[in-house]
Amino acid sequence: MPPVRLHWSHLFEEVVTSGLCTGCAGCVIACPHAVLGYDDSCHPYHLEDEGGAGGCIHGDKGCTLCTRACPRFRDWEAEADSHLWGRPRNPDEVVGVIDEILLARAGNAEILEAGQDGGLVSAILIWCLENNEIDGALVSKLAADGTAWEPVPAFVSTPDEILAAAGSRYTYSANTLAYAEALDAGAEKLAMVGMSCQASVLPMMQTRGVRKVARRFSLNIGLLCSKTFDDRIFEELIGDQYGIERDSITKMNIKGKFQVWTDGGGYEEIPLKDCQPFTREGCKSCPDFAAQHADISTGGLGQAGGWTLTLVRTERGREIIERMKKDGAIEVRPGSDDPGAISLMERLGAKQRDRWPDKEAAPAAHSAD
Ligand SMILES: Cc1cc2nc3c(=O)[nH]c(=O)nc-3n(C[C@H](O)[C@H](O)[C@H](O)COP(=O)(O)OP(=O)(O)OC[C@H]3O[C@@H](n4cnc5c(N)ncnc54)[C@H](O)[C@@H]3O)c2cc1C
Ligand code: SF4
Ligand code: SF4
Repeated sequence: MPPVRLHWSHLFEEVVTSGLCTGCAGCVIACPHAVLGYDDSCHPYHLEDEGGAGGCIHGDKGCTLCTRACPRFRDWEAEADSHLWGRPRNPDEVVGVIDEILLARAGNAEILEAGQDGGLVSAILIWCLENNEIDGALVSKLAADGTAWEPVPAFVSTPDEILAAAGSRYTYSANTLAYAEALDAGAEKLAMVGMSCQASVLPMMQTRGVRKVARRFSLNIGLLCSKTFDDRIFEELIGDQYGIERDSITKMNIKGKFQVWTDGGGYEEIPLKDCQPFTREGCKSCPDFAAQHADISTGGLGQAGGWTLTLVRTERGREIIERMKKDGAIEVRPGSDDPGAISLMERLGAKQRDRWPDKEAAPAAHSAD
């Protein structure tokens, strides 16, 4: 029997409508026929009448690229691990394979000030631009239409654009979708910035042969992430229960509680249990806290003093960090300076593993036919 060619129908049934879909949009940017759209509830959908919601005539004719790109399809995790490190992770590697844990921050005061934690992510992007490592990056910026705190995917290619996009927003932004903008700008070498689910897109594309898209990416930066919220958190919780106007917010952070700073020096702490009802559906089955498939993963755990908790994972990640250190573009301390942050990360990582449905029930590995 010829091998089954796995396409949109399989993805639709096993990921999109099964509760596993994170909304990462990897499938959307991989589709060579541009027949996948992306809706307001962060789900991909089929655009053509022919085939209907769960079918695709291009898939019937042999196209398999959407399933290949998907970092939740079948044996995605072991495939990405093996691609990056030549082996699946060990069960005790609850936050993925790590080469070294560091605390890092931008050497430049303006970047440090703009960043959410140590400004490491923005410092890396700016250094990579200046050293011709990338032409630009897929990040998230605030919508320019006056909708306060709505994050939207963006292609950035100057230091000013990178700085304007710095900081964290806690509703979902499928940064992958800025790929089209990067293509329009003629960019050849890209960095990807995204939460854990998005950090697995590139290794999936690389190992399952979505070459046309994958070949443009030269760096993959991940953001540690336990969840994102639905946009209604602004009105129903922050607005109605705490009386904070959305457009008065100047900064948000999550450090054991949801912290909100407002105009005129205001500050409010919201218990995370109050935020739980606003957890985005796509996060509820996500097992990856620590952006396990990025070259460099970054988080704010424990870092009150403006440092980014930094997990160097791959040779590419190591090379960038070492060169930046040498140039004085970043300051670095050993991760062992903050053992509490590391053990908290491991506890959160282990807990998040339980979100993935029973692995025994998962179908057999993807065949890269
Ligand atoms: C939704 C979300 C949840 C997070 N949860 C945790 C957590 O539980 N624990 C933890 O330790 N760290 C978490 N982080 C990571 C942390 O907030 C910082 O992003 C990280 O420490 C890097 O800080 P920095 O100062 O080096 O980055 P910066 O220099 O400030 O750069 C941050 C980058 O993140 C991008 N970004 C901002 N918001 C979004 C978004 N909504 N979607 C996609 N990209 C975005 C920006 O475009 C920018 O490029 C989370 C981040 C996000 C966005
Ligand atoms: S997880 Fe990502 S790639 Fe997979 S179906 Fe959902 S949006 Fe597409
Ligand atoms: S928890 Fe974070 S990484 Fe996981 S699906 Fe949600 S946004 Fe993506």
